[in-house]
Amino acid sequence: METIIVPAGEGRAFHVNDGQQMRITTPKGQQSADFFACRAADTSEWLSPPHTWMPTRSLHPRVGDTFLSRLRQPMADFVEDGADGLHDFIIAPCDAIRYRQFGATGHHRSCAENLEIAMRGLGHEITVTPLAVNFFTNTVVEDGFMFNTPAAPVVQPGGYVVLQSRMDLICVVSSCPYDLDGPGWAINAPGGPTEIIVELL
Ligand SMILES: [Zn+2]
Repeated sequence: METIIVPAGEGRAFHVNDGQQMRITTPKGQQSADFFACRAADTSEWLSPPHTWMPTRSLHPRVGDTFLSRLRQPMADFVEDGADGLHDFIIAPCDAIRYRQFGATGHHRSCAENLEIAMRGLGHEITVTPLAVNFFTNTVVEDGFMFNTPAAPVVQPGGYVVLQSRMDLICVVSSCPYDLDGPGWAINAPGGPTEIIVELL
């Protein structure tokens, strides 16, 4: 078993073999993990939440779902959920523009930048930021409206998911660096981001 520690607010890229399982854990709880994946042999074929939720008919990832690529090919199965279903398919990854809009000054890490840096570390330049599967992120959809409040349920310490790949993949997990007193958004726990653990089983 290989363990990859994703430090708080950073991202890491790693290879996953066809059929291999990976467990992604938030040891301290309530830490969004933006999950990206692409076909190892062609990084322009990336995992796509909108392509996935059309056949699953759910705006939240659920056990039994198969994550599809933008070319509608099965990339990974969601096989175990130890986080009470608190996952999101909707929110675009945070990026430098969003932090500027939130009023951050100077450089602020983002999931989009974490993806770029992690992929560059494996020799791949990213020209598009795909949408992510936002594990451990609670969004609520009611009557077509999406919201997230500090009062919403949060993922407890040790919350985890297990995925099983359906092809050779390059995956990136970003410990979302969101740490602002945003307008009512409980993305991460108060006190700033915390690490994410990835175990290749
Ligand atoms: Zn983020």
